[in-house]
Amino acid sequence: MATLELDSVTKVFQDGNDEIVAVDDVSASVDDGEFLVVVGPSGCGKSTMLRMIAGLESITSGTLSLADRVINDVKSQDRNIAMVFQSYALYPHMSVRENMSFGLEESTDIPDDEIQQMVSETGELLGISELLDRKPSELSGGQQQRVALGRAIVRDPEVFLMDEPLSNLDAKLRAQMRTELQRLQDDLGVTTIYVTHDQTEAMTMGDRIAILNDGRLQQISTPLECYHKPANKFVAGFLGEPSMNFFDVTLQDGVLRGDSFEYPISSDVQANLGDTTDLVLGIRPEDIELVESASGDHDFETVVDVIEPMGDENTVYLQFDPDAGEDAETLIASTDGFTRVPEGDEVIAQIPEDAIHIFDRATGDALHNRSLDDAETIDLE
Ligand code: ATP
Repeated sequence: MATLELDSVTKVFQDGNDEIVAVDDVSASVDDGEFLVVVGPSGCGKSTMLRMIAGLESITSGTLSLADRVINDVKSQDRNIAMVFQSYALYPHMSVRENMSFGLEESTDIPDDEIQQMVSETGELLGISELLDRKPSELSGGQQQRVALGRAIVRDPEVFLMDEPLSNLDAKLRAQMRTELQRLQDDLGVTTIYVTHDQTEAMTMGDRIAILNDGRLQQISTPLECYHKPANKFVAGFLGEPSMNFFDVTLQDGVLRGDSFEYPISSDVQANLGDTTDLVLGIRPEDIELVESASGDHDFETVVDVIEPMGDENTVYLQFDPDAGEDAETLIASTDGFTRVPEGDEVIAQIPEDAIHIFDRATGDALHNRSLDDAETIDLE
């Protein structure tokens, strides 16, 4: 087990005469035993970052340290880091047992009987003991995934690196493996970096998440902190489904003026904005209340355009001014699945001030985030 440290790590690929900065000046510290999920859109540099940590890709500049030792130039096989890939990468001609023992036989001088003992124990841990003599082709996707994990675990590494390991599984099995993996990581206490583009995995699995965009680290924090206190507009829009609503607004005399509405803000909120007047107002769909009549200046007349019933909730697309046709600004709200909101009806959308986020339009930086003062904790005493 060990702390992993990235200090200004950068990777530049040469593509003919062009330079592609895949990872751009990323600094982060992953604590001993921590489960860090790295998430971001396709091409943001997640896999490149993982491959540099694994030693499969050289580092252009910056320092990578494991347990206080700089490992930039340490060969992959000497790093005591185990990687689990999306493709499982199992050897088809070898049995499960051989797949799991092969790495140890090749790279260590642990006696054979001890290796077999370790394989049996890991097989038990993963519930695949009865599969040890089968070939990968005789296993389901979920079982193959367990074998790939087993092969990493049996090596007793200091760090696990996982690159989208669950993405080939169906939704139900993925959900099951998600909790299984978390429990396993918790029991083993091995520092783990897990790459995914699936935000459910990011929100539910990690102690912290690191959000990358264009090779740059946007925020690294607990999932709930990133969700409720996003550092910038990118993070705010990336986490959450449906996405946060954004409206370009200008601050004038304590009022945020947008194309479709005017939104007065209190002096407390205004105090967080400094001198910036070109702003973006953000509100999450689940924070919007739909009511029948307006009662304050944070209530807006809208018309229901489309409803997507999801069962447990409805996603409601609202228009501020349906007469504006294609230019009508829309607002997405999530309501309880039992709430009936007929398409074409007029409803009042309440945008509570304690739930709004405000971003600097030029930089995207969050200037004001929602208040968590009203968050309820269930007291189980
Ligand atoms: P995905 O989720 O689609 O796998 P990713 O976030 O893992 O994407 P990377 O695979 O790390 O992204 O790629 C980051 C950037 O670096 C991309 O623009 C990619 O095209 C580029 N890149 C990756 N490998 C190479 C390479 N060997 N040569 C040139 N460019 C590369």
